[in-house]
Amino acid sequence: MILSLVRIAIFMTLVAALTFGVTWLADIGDEVRIAFGTQEFSLTPVAATIGVALFLLAAWLVLKLAGLLVAVVRFFNGDETALSRYFDRNRERRGFEALADGLMALASGEGRLAMTKAQKAERYLQRPELTLLISAQAAEMTGETKKAQGYYKELLKDDRTRFVGVHGIMKQKLSEGDTDTALKLAQKAFSLRPRHENTLNTLFALQSDKSDWKGARETLLAKLKAKTLPKDVHLRRDAVLALADARDKAEAGKISDSQIAAFEANRLSPDLIPAAVLAAEMHILGNAPKKAVAVLKKAWTAQPHPDLAAAFAEIVPDESPAERLKRFQPLLKLKPDDPETRLLAAELNIVAEDFAAARSALGDLADAAPTTRSLTIMAAIERGEGAPDNVVRGYLTKAIDARLGAQWVCSACHHIHGNWAPVCEHCAAFDTLSWQEAPETARSRRSSADMLPLLVGALDAPADMPPADGPEASASETGPAPSFLASAPPPPDAIIAKAEAASDDMDGILGDPHTIPEEVEKT
Ligand SMILES: [Zn+2]
Repeated sequence: MILSLVRIAIFMTLVAALTFGVTWLADIGDEVRIAFGTQEFSLTPVAATIGVALFLLAAWLVLKLAGLLVAVVRFFNGDETALSRYFDRNRERRGFEALADGLMALASGEGRLAMTKAQKAERYLQRPELTLLISAQAAEMTGETKKAQGYYKELLKDDRTRFVGVHGIMKQKLSEGDTDTALKLAQKAFSLRPRHENTLNTLFALQSDKSDWKGARETLLAKLKAKTLPKDVHLRRDAVLALADARDKAEAGKISDSQIAAFEANRLSPDLIPAAVLAAEMHILGNAPKKAVAVLKKAWTAQPHPDLAAAFAEIVPDESPAERLKRFQPLLKLKPDDPETRLLAAELNIVAEDFAAARSALGDLADAAPTTRSLTIMAAIERGEGAPDNVVRGYLTKAIDARLGAQWVCSACHHIHGNWAPVCEHCAAFDTLSWQEAPETARSRRSSADMLPLLVGALDAPADMPPADGPEASASETGPAPSFLASAPPPPDAIIAKAEAASDDMDGILGDPHTIPEEVEKT
């Protein structure tokens, strides 16, 4: 709008200036005399101005004709391409003008105009590698995907443009959701240009999404070689991929292959908790408990984690609570002030029925960092020490609504996972899960109705009545119900049996009082 106003204003100014100039020339009145030898011409100023303009035009035409004449003379002297070159120069100029217009139209979002200009440029230039690209992008802009694909396919024919063609079709397939074809195209693009960062990223994402761990590791190595990935990140991700591979192989029953991959993952990244757990399990399977202990202790030094403790318990599954407590001492001494160490020590002491030691191990955790787990442990201690029902109930009620504490949280989308996974189940990002404090908004969401069996079992059931089947079933459904609270005071044998059962299904040493139900609130 403003632009057209400015244009009109400039046009009016020019017309006014021209009129003024002509009037001024006419008003001068004097004549311009031009002498050619003996002849003399007298002209009015206006006629003289027009004459000069005509002269310049004639000079330009003469120059053009001279150029053509030179080309003709050269042609007859044997330079066969002289004439075509003369005309080609003109064609080329027009072609590049059309090309420039096409690019401008593309940049300003005028898809149809860009396509027309590209076709015009192609007529003059015969340079498909330039014009097809504009046509393809313009077709995509106007939503004509079929047409765009046709242009990309044309680009495949030339060595210089093949990569662009493959890349273009790959992007189309990705947006259509055809990931199988996109993966094949990404592999093709990778073979054409192994250092192209975008291709490497796409290929890696597709491979990890399809659990092609071997392929993803090769791509990861290519990323390292292309210097698009720092060495330490490569090492860590390579470990994650080796671990994912080991898990899949274990699931498929290929234990020895899984073993090799698990040990490699643990060697590449000794801090990676799930890798340490799997490596320890493989050592236990291979009857090498000392190696399992070493692997778990090393990982515990980096970050104490309940899964490591669960794996540590598995090393000697049939020991008594007192024996277990004793065997765990070297592990507990590694990071004595870490909250995870304190929670673990408290749990082990509860099972061994040393409630005073449990209380001292837990310290002020239930007050300073009240989580579902620390509060439930506190309730167990109170109950073990014979506190009144209302005190125990108070802790359990708080536990229902407490924070979850540390969880496997995706750093990209903050989704909370019950178990570690190489790829986020919510946003599909790779290696984004870390063991950290769950977002404030995440709560266990267990209603008091869910906890009721626990409370009934713990507080209201007559002492001589065995706990009903119902509470047991509910407890396993809701997950976090700490099994050692269900019947009290339970005979040591029952605790051992429960601890064993819990160890067997890898849910923790005592059943996992902090496992999050699937329905956790997402941020
Ligand atoms: Zn995520």
